[in-house]
Amino acid sequence: MKSYDIAVIKGDGIGPEIVDEAIKVLNVVSKKEGFGLNYKEYLMGGCAYEAVGTPIPDVTIEGCRVSDAVLFGSIGGYKWDDLPREMKPESGLLKLRKELGLFANLRPVRVFDELIEASSLKPEVIQGVDLLVVRELTGGIYFGEPRDNDGQTAYNTMVYTKDEIIRIAKVAFESAIKRKKKVCSVDKANVLEVSRLWRKTVEEVALEYPEVELSHMFVDNAAMQLVRDPKQFDVILTGNIFGDILSDEASMMSGSIGLLPSSSIGGIVGLYEPIHGSAPDIAGKDIANPIATILSASMMLRYSLGEEKAADLIDNAIKSVLHDGYRTSDLGKYHAKEVCSTQQMGLIIADRITKV
Ligand code: NAD
Repeated sequence: MKSYDIAVIKGDGIGPEIVDEAIKVLNVVSKKEGFGLNYKEYLMGGCAYEAVGTPIPDVTIEGCRVSDAVLFGSIGGYKWDDLPREMKPESGLLKLRKELGLFANLRPVRVFDELIEASSLKPEVIQGVDLLVVRELTGGIYFGEPRDNDGQTAYNTMVYTKDEIIRIAKVAFESAIKRKKKVCSVDKANVLEVSRLWRKTVEEVALEYPEVELSHMFVDNAAMQLVRDPKQFDVILTGNIFGDILSDEASMMSGSIGLLPSSSIGGIVGLYEPIHGSAPDIAGKDIANPIATILSASMMLRYSLGEEKAADLIDNAIKSVLHDGYRTSDLGKYHAKEVCSTQQMGLIIADRITKV
């Protein structure tokens, strides 16, 4: 029997609760499809700081390196907010992405018809939205040097090299080929030198993909267009900070941040995680929505393990469960037949797969 090694990082806050449900679903689907999953758990984030005094122990990085894929929950919490930057939980995740070479973050945004009223946007604006944000993840202003804060003046630097832009642009064009063949590259080329290099380089890469239509948009306009007419977008290609902001904005179309998965790829091994954080306000209450994490597990099966059929089974089970009116409390107001806990939602989705 084929089997895969999965590095599991549950993290902080709701992380352990939502990852447990994804594993519940993965166990059912792997059994049904006849492959094995060997899980190995690693520490990262605040829990790692508490246990071993660093947010990312070497053993975690090494364990991820030798795995077939990484399934991750979330990290962070108020408790660790005042630690020095390199000890903060978030530094652990930034370091892991860098060490694994995960330069591309893919965030699909799809609107479930059953939850159309959960969005703050009008149904006619969002019905049928199906877009993908491709965000550069290991460069740009979050990593650029110099950076400093001497108490009087603080600065960060937005840096991109041509090679960094080429490799992320290729991910966007390759993704677009499998979708509606449109890439919108988002930058601030009217003001920033770094964006002018970005735009010119993306245009050069586009020559290798004549079947894909390329357009450009300034980031301020993109923020506006996303809420005005999101259906105009297929693949949005952008840098680290613009992608961070735009993908959170786009996530609101689905009605809950608890529904959106993501994958980080391009390096040694793919990492799959929900887009939300550790939600300390609801941690330990068994009310978090596990669907974003379960959909991330589905992306892991599809993109890192090549188990497409198993991924389809998960995606269809989620659709069917939502169609039947099962909701966690974040979506309890929207045609809920039954409001369920985190654990119940995982079980209902797993049962649905068993019964197909
Ligand atoms: P958050 O995403 O954790 O929470 C924002 C709001 O959404 C909260 O009200 C929360 O209860 C709700 N929410 C989030 N996930 C949910 C789910 N699955 N089901 C139901 N409701 C959900 O963002 P925040 O409050 O700004 O950050 C909390 C902590 O998470 C911070 O320490 C932050 O640094 C960290 N964080 C981590 C990641 C990550 O692990 N990749 C990403 C973002 C934020």
